Amino acid sequence: MNYNQIYIGGEWVYSDSPAMIEVENPATRQIIGKVPAGNAKDVDRAVLSAKAAFEAWSETTLEERIVTLRKVYDHFAAKKEQLIQMEVAELGQPIRWAERAHVIGPLARFDNYIKLIQDYPFEEKLKHATVRREPIGVIGCITPWNYPLGQVMQKIVPALLTGNTVVLKPSQMTPLSAMVLAESFHEAGVPAGVFNLVTGRGAEVGNALALHPDVQMISFTGSTTGGREVGKLALETIKKIALELGGKSPLIVLPDADISLAVGTVISSCFDNTGQTCAALTRMIIPKADKEKIESLIIERSKAYTVGDPTLVDTKVGPLASAKQYKKVSKYIEIGIEEGAKLIVGEMPVPYEALGDNGYYVKPTVFTDVENHMKIAQEEIFGPVISLIAYDTVEDAIRIANDVPYGLSGAVIGPLDLANEVATKIKTGSVYVNDGKRDINAPFGGYKQSGIGREGGIQGIEEFLEIKSIFNEPQPEKL
Ligand code: NAD
Repeated sequence: MNYNQIYIGGEWVYSDSPAMIEVENPATRQIIGKVPAGNAKDVDRAVLSAKAAFEAWSETTLEERIVTLRKVYDHFAAKKEQLIQMEVAELGQPIRWAERAHVIGPLARFDNYIKLIQDYPFEEKLKHATVRREPIGVIGCITPWNYPLGQVMQKIVPALLTGNTVVLKPSQMTPLSAMVLAESFHEAGVPAGVFNLVTGRGAEVGNALALHPDVQMISFTGSTTGGREVGKLALETIKKIALELGGKSPLIVLPDADISLAVGTVISSCFDNTGQTCAALTRMIIPKADKEKIESLIIERSKAYTVGDPTLVDTKVGPLASAKQYKKVSKYIEIGIEEGAKLIVGEMPVPYEALGDNGYYVKPTVFTDVENHMKIAQEEIFGPVISLIAYDTVEDAIRIANDVPYGLSGAVIGPLDLANEVATKIKTGSVYVNDGKRDINAPFGGYKQSGIGREGGIQGIEEFLEIKSIFNEPQPEKL
């Protein structure tokens, strides 16, 4: 799976840099591919090509853009089987989950944006003005590794449908599926420069995009640390910034809640994707009276989460995505033990040095007796680690839920009226009540240090539009 070129101006071209980045399969630690380690000169070429393409693309009709993007979708969807295998290999996710969360899900988003935008009113008439929504220009899209295609779709599809042109920098850890996407753009005959792909590291390609004066907006998904750095650089030239960042999301279990539902919800949220989900409900805030019952059930139900080879259909939990993740998650488990939390599921992973040739596997982990000031309750671990935090009153539970720097997602399980009321008090961009069904058109994003802006739905489309007010009615004669 070697891709030795990047995609600029409708062509596969060599990077200015001869350096390559190796892509590792985290289950086998074999190198499965290489992509160019692009640099600032590549970014410059890509941005200039996107800038040149903007004028014509932004003047196409919505119908024309829909026809073009639908062709891309068709070419991309036809590669579904290849993509599933790729996500198992580059991300280490179990094959069933890779299919559902990393291929079918992103394709559904792509398809849905095309449908959703069809009736979007780009112009609105006020009493004395017309308000127009117009494309912004060249959008720099920087994406993480944990949902490699999902995060890409949330940016490039609405950005292009609204008439912008794009330079995409996928994560250096999972760039292969983005290469397949670029192939689909090429096969669909998308006009040169509308979509460009530069692979490489954040410090080179990401920074160059954020700083480039001809990039009008940076849409970034990644860590809060990365988002802060990129945001600062982007503001040098007052770019629009959209940031989708980290989380430390709470699940409040109310008195008289369905405990089985609560445990099922927290486990799937924290163990699927090996816990590497920004919105994972990693803090389970539980009534003191139900503590023992919940601990027993979580121990029991965790046993179903079999860890192992992601190519096997029965595997539920694959490896962590990289050595860096393995070291980070191991460190947090060690910190949890040192802080005095009690490990009731899982174990301290073997030291990295003792891993030998093994993949980056850690067992699903649950700590109880966690206090909300502890590091394991405050910081994003980004692995399959749940913290149980006991509370006395519902007011305490809400206070604990909100007492973190993040505000991405949240959940409440309990009697419906009270659960709905508590949902309004949780300071996060989404709240699930009794494991409520998802809506693909609902916006997603964060309060506080979880980000700026929203992706998904109409709000996710509007992120990529400038707003212009036109006053074109004759004025009554001025006195
Ligand atoms: P990361 O911040 O390390 O990297 C994200 C992307 O930004 C990568 O492409 C990287 O190369 C680039 N990058 C990093 N630092 C940069 C810099 N200083 N300048 C320019 N580019 C830079 O994050 P990650 O480890 O790839 O992803 C995991 C993080 O992403 C977690 O914190 C997770 O919560 C978050 N995330 C958030 C959402 C969301 O929608 N809120 C979704 C997925 C992941």
